Amino acid sequence: SHIQVKKLLDSVVETLKPQIEAMHLNVYVNATEFTVFASLDHIKGIFYNLISNAIKYNKQNGRIDVVLKKNQKNMYFSVEDTGVGIAQEDQSRIFQRFYRVDKERSKTIPGTGLGLSIVKHVVYYYQGKIHLTSKEDVGTKITVELPIIVKEIPEN
Ligand code: ATP
Ligand code: MG
Repeated sequence: SHIQVKKLLDSVVETLKPQIEAMHLNVYVNATEFTVFASLDHIKGIFYNLISNAIKYNKQNGRIDVVLKKNQKNMYFSVEDTGVGIAQEDQSRIFQRFYRVDKERSKTIPGTGLGLSIVKHVVYYYQGKIHLTSKEDVGTKITVELPIIVKEIPEN
């Protein structure tokens, strides 16, 4: 169906507020409103999984930058965190089902290892792109581009 993506993103961030506050994170959302044609659960899943990872694998008092915009015919969405990062050798594996980086500091963090594999499958379903850049102990940035733009919503 038709989805107003900024509205959806704001609601996802709102549901994650308790976790954000528990980690004392500063979350900056830079989003424009526009409409896409897609499954609500698919887009919500992308937003939820990427932001929840940026929370869980962050450091106390860390930062998250979320960008949502139109990029020609694509919806562009990125989430950048100041967390533990992902070592080079793990970067290709984290999109596999059930794969979790086995690290002392992340062992206590709950998860099934499915979030990113679901995100990857949804992105491929829409023939989009997903891109990861990460540095251990510095942070991670994941960008998603999906060719699902419908139209811009006028401001008022
Ligand atoms: P689930 O999402 O199913 O609750 P999960 O978060 O462990 O569990 P994924 O979202 O698929 O599973 O992520 C896989 C693994 O990749 C994580 O366990 C973590 O080790 C690593 N990872 C994912 N996102 C980040 C991130 N932003 N920073 C550091 N490591 C990450
Ligand atoms: Mg996850």
